[in-house]
Amino acid sequence: MSQVAFIGLGNMGGPMAQNLLKAGHSLVVFDLVASAIEVLVKDGAKQASSAQEAVQGADVVISMLPASQHVESLYLGENGLLKHISKQALIIDCSTIAAESARKVAKAAVAMGIEMIDAPVSGGTGGAIAGTLTFIVGGRSEGLERARPFLEKMGKNIFHAGAAGAGQVAKIANNMLLGIAMAGTAEALALGVANGLDPKVLSDIISKSSGRTWAIELYNPWPGVMDNVPASKGYAGGFGVDLMLKDLGLAAEAAMSARSVIPLGELARNLYAMHSTQGNGKLDFSSIVTLLKKEG
Ligand code: NAD
Repeated sequence: MSQVAFIGLGNMGGPMAQNLLKAGHSLVVFDLVASAIEVLVKDGAKQASSAQEAVQGADVVISMLPASQHVESLYLGENGLLKHISKQALIIDCSTIAAESARKVAKAAVAMGIEMIDAPVSGGTGGAIAGTLTFIVGGRSEGLERARPFLEKMGKNIFHAGAAGAGQVAKIANNMLLGIAMAGTAEALALGVANGLDPKVLSDIISKSSGRTWAIELYNPWPGVMDNVPASKGYAGGFGVDLMLKDLGLAAEAAMSARSVIPLGELARNLYAMHSTQGNGKLDFSSIVTLLKKEG
């Protein structure tokens, strides 16, 4: 069985690593936070004292880090991992980062003869725990096929978006649309309620009409309309405003580098930024409705 090095055991990486362990893989794990490592060690993973130690002898290296700067410094920084990873190994970076960073790291890996794919995920912490994530891959088909047996243990859908960095572009495009659609859905509900409609009745109508969105059907932002969504739990859990803001920032960077126009994406980024600066950064992103609805 292949040896896997897993680096970054946070809200997403922790449960993803657990699913690989459950499938019988041998894992060596590392995180900057000791308690995150301990959870995995209890489940049978081997602890490494550094990322460099974790990748010794690894056939596959998986990273799940917060942002571009973490991934660039892990692989390319002083004593970066590319100097320590075997040429036969495959690198799978699952972090959501700038497409440009993903291309830069992949190019450096290829120059050293190491295969690397970007494989950001959709599906949130629930999907990471249940092993039902969607992987959106950028890189060579050969890299994807080598990664597939591992990705299948952590997710349900695997897409090949294109060359290195393409996984990040597709993921960012999806999340930009999600941010816009959530803000639009919230605005429509706020308009209806301000004009005397019941939010549940209006949601039922829109769900069967042409304004239907994923947000109205499965993740309704209005409190009390739907059970078991963050809106009905004080906007706790789910996908944070600051994470949405990060992804909208990545969309803006991608737009600038390709000179494409994203007027709605930019507007959404400003709405979530305003909402975040009012102290709501840790709330679920559907709480954007509170910025738009009438008081009282
Ligand atoms: P997190 O902050 O919970 O976890 C990141 C982990 O990386 C932390 O435990 C941190 O200690 C560790 N880390 C940082 N730098 C490190 C280094 N140099 N070496 C070792 N460990 C290091 O974040 P998360 O929620 O798990 O998200 C990870 C990535 O997945 C992000 O890019 C995020 O945008 C993306 N994502 C998150 C969600 C979600 O719902 N949380 C959904 C889809 C995608």
